Amino acid sequence: MRLIFLGPPGAGKGTMAKVLSKRYNVAHLSTGDLLRANIQARTSLGKEAASFVDNGKLVPDQLVIEMMRQRLREKDAKPGFILDGFPRTTEQAKALDQLLQEEEMEVGHAINFDASDKKIIERLSGRRICGKCGAIYHLKNIPPKQPGICDQCGSALIQRKDDAEDTVRKRLEVYRKETAPLIDYYERQKLLRTVPGDLNVDELDPILKKILV
Ligand code: AMP
Repeated sequence: MRLIFLGPPGAGKGTMAKVLSKRYNVAHLSTGDLLRANIQARTSLGKEAASFVDNGKLVPDQLVIEMMRQRLREKDAKPGFILDGFPRTTEQAKALDQLLQEEEMEVGHAINFDASDKKIIERLSGRRICGKCGAIYHLKNIPPKQPGICDQCGSALIQRKDDAEDTVRKRLEVYRKETAPLIDYYERQKLLRTVPGDLNVDELDPILKKILV
């Protein structure tokens, strides 16, 4: 199984990717998670990427493409993967096409999570993530058992800097300008499947199951 998850921030890509990667035993490759891990570990990539990520801007294509080129070649990606947040520009999509060709791999579907601005703002303002394992929560919709503590690893939950309201607006603008054109890109490749991103996990899961049979 090889999937691309497209859609604005807060549309549910990361949450569903975590569910599906566990169920189907494929790698969940989130460029956002990879960049945040690099920033936390203060790698040279992390240092270059930090100001872009914190301000809701896209990290330059060459950096992200190189990061994914290496990540896709790792062993856990061989049985399959879900790309969450990559590609985000036409240049990245073209680079991915080339990379897949080199590795003799094909993508099954590009799944477009279509969500309303209202839902996105509601989700991102209440979103909390585990600072250690990256598990995703929501103060109201997916609350942890113990407030502020990750159910899975017991670490503290944090609010992402880029989930601040101003930065969310910026990220939505960037999405519309840079990433939304990829909907047509994958439609032309006959890979596109659009799902309603406003639904919660239990409602969306059967829709995705049908697509993935
Ligand atoms: P996400 O966790 O997918 O919302 O990504 C968080 C941030 O990481 C984005 O706002 C960008 O700054 C950066 N980022 C993630 N994926 C990409 C990508 N494919 N290209 C450029 N920047 C990215």
